Amino acid sequence: MRGDVIVIGSGMAGATVAHRLTAAGASVIILDKARGSGGRMSSKRVSLGGDLSVTVDLGCPAIEAKSPDFQDFLKSFIADGLLTKSSGAPGRDSLAVRGRSSALTRTLIGAAEVRFSAKVLSIRAPFQPEASHRWEVVYEQGGKTLQAWASHVVITAPPEQAQALLPEDHVFRKALNGIHLVPQWVCALVFSLPAAEHSDRQEDVVTMLKALARRVAMHPGVETAIVENEKPGRTFSGNLGALTVHFAPGWSQVHIDEAKDRIARQAQELVRLSMDGFADSKSLELVSSHVHRWLYSQPGRLTLADQRYLSGDEGLSLCGDYFGATEFGGLERAFLSASALSEALQSSGSLSRASAHA
Ligand SMILES: Cc1cc2nc3c(=O)[nH]c(=O)nc-3n(C[C@H](O)[C@H](O)[C@H](O)COP(=O)(O)OP(=O)(O)OC[C@H]3O[C@@H](n4cnc5c(N)ncnc54)[C@H](O)[C@@H]3O)c2cc1C
Repeated sequence: MRGDVIVIGSGMAGATVAHRLTAAGASVIILDKARGSGGRMSSKRVSLGGDLSVTVDLGCPAIEAKSPDFQDFLKSFIADGLLTKSSGAPGRDSLAVRGRSSALTRTLIGAAEVRFSAKVLSIRAPFQPEASHRWEVVYEQGGKTLQAWASHVVITAPPEQAQALLPEDHVFRKALNGIHLVPQWVCALVFSLPAAEHSDRQEDVVTMLKALARRVAMHPGVETAIVENEKPGRTFSGNLGALTVHFAPGWSQVHIDEAKDRIARQAQELVRLSMDGFADSKSLELVSSHVHRWLYSQPGRLTLADQRYLSGDEGLSLCGDYFGATEFGGLERAFLSASALSEALQSSGSLSRASAHA
């Protein structure tokens, strides 16, 4: 398999690079170890038995666009109805993706070739410096070890994971030393209201969950609690609702090695405490809980704040949310970093030379 560019990762950064370079005429291949796109913008369908299921976001719950570049970029998706204004996390003016969060990265990927469940194992240094497709990317898919070649490789994996993929002694390995993303536990709790008391009353569920979310978010150790029903394009039938509890990175770090069921019990206990003295919400019954551990959630110390991306002359580049100014959220930094790198690759002219030689 050959392309002008191999992009490792299909989160916001990888999907943006693919979108920009495909539009500029490059052939792009995306490899992602996950089963779908989105990276830390992923959602999960929680099965409730039979045909019944609900969708919850386990990662980034909403999009905040502060920079004119990101705001301009999102305009067409707002016009198409893919993005809608949302209250998002409490107190923030943000946008939410209609349906599953990954719909945005899926749309950006568009015509680029993408391989999921394709875990990159290593990137080999140019073995024939003069050859047009000189980078060899070794990946594992379906139990097989496979290779792909390209003139350029863009790594968008979190810094710890990117470091492990870089060729030994590569200068970027040192540049990434000390750059860490903090971990985070997330627990999605699905509730129902007994039908006898409330027949098919979504309004009641949402009112109760909103009040509950405010109380849960006040507990130390919790970063935020989000009502999933409020997001656009989510179909919660009848008396069902979901609350996603994001534990604070500090709390998550301390409890990082705990079993998932203990984290679920912790989230349930917070809900129980929050219901105390709040008679209305007591009629909510817990139906299901789903816990996800993010080992790499959001940048902690941004030592690459003064850089927008890293790019070597020889065609190996890095971008992602651990680059850029701290005034922006992780998602916006991922976009800005990927955009800046794509622009640099296009204006360097090396992509068109690679296509001409292929
Ligand atoms: C719970 C949570 C809440 C958040 N809340 C916010 C918020 O409110 N606002 C905000 O701005 N940001 C928030 N973020 C952060 C935001 O989601 C990230 O900053 C952003 O999504 C990062 O995008 P990315 O493309 O740089 O990286 P990622 O989304 O991590 O993409 C990297 C991709 O690389 C793939 N990959 C890694 N290693 C390999 C390999 N060896 N082979 C193949 N593929 C590989 C991964 O599967 C992944 O798909 C939150 C994140 C989490 C987890």
